Amino acid sequence: MAEQSKAPLLQLRAVEKRFSAGGLFGKKRSVAALDKVSLTVSRGEAVALVGESGSGKSTLARVVLRLTKPDTGAVLLDGRDEPASLAYRARVQMIFQDPFASLNPVHTVLHHLARPLLRHRKATKATARSRAAELLKTVGLEPAEEMLDRHPHQLSGGQRQRVAIARALAVEPDLLVADEPTSMLDVSLRAGILKLLKGLKERGLGILLITHDLASARALADRIAVLNKGRIVEEGTTRQIIEAPQHPYTRALLAAVAAKD
Ligand code: ADP
Ligand code: MG
Repeated sequence: MAEQSKAPLLQLRAVEKRFSAGGLFGKKRSVAALDKVSLTVSRGEAVALVGESGSGKSTLARVVLRLTKPDTGAVLLDGRDEPASLAYRARVQMIFQDPFASLNPVHTVLHHLARPLLRHRKATKATARSRAAELLKTVGLEPAEEMLDRHPHQLSGGQRQRVAIARALAVEPDLLVADEPTSMLDVSLRAGILKLLKGLKERGLGILLITHDLASARALADRIAVLNKGRIVEEGTTRQIIEAPQHPYTRALLAAVAAKD
């Protein structure tokens, strides 16, 4: 079990990440994918990072996962600047947008769950199957025993995303980073996945939901941070942001949701 501390579970302090981009007339210029981004996520809290395509959301996810090193600023977990390691990867797990691409078609559900269980020593060969069945129950995939022997193509999109979430939970993480977890799913399945994530949050996980969709942020998040061109332009409780948005960019995002309703 990770040690508890007063510091937030996740803290980003003025994180900056620039990429060089080919400018006009062949001049190289650098673009800030993340411009002094500060953000916290506590245990038992879901924070949504909302922004349009290109605003820097995936870069932020990569920085949190320590797949990308920020140019300046810090990423702290429980107040510590931990290097990327097996232990770090166990504490911070990612849920991707496309549950089909994130599962291997040649392997069964059991294989997908047993692998992290064994690698992170959360189960032995003797206990992996029963632990995997428990994980499937946690994510609402039943009958679990039957699901364990299925291959990804025998599952619906929503069921696949549940397997991906079960796999993330296998290593007993403290933080889930979910990058557009419902955007590839039928609208009818989205609410179920968000409800599942909400239940996990209520059991103490920290969740960073990354999305272009304020409606899913509203369904899950306690707080919303609005990202525009690498900058957080507005941040507040979900209620504040939805009911009294201050920044014109947030208003524009909200208008786009209202137009869809
Ligand atoms: P989002 O996930 O919100 O769509 P990204 O984080 O993918 O945004 O991208 C933010 C900005 O950074 C974009 O302008 C994108 O072109 C740029 N960018 C992202 N990754 C790279 C990279 N590896 N090399 C160069 N530019 C990148
Ligand atoms: Mg993205």
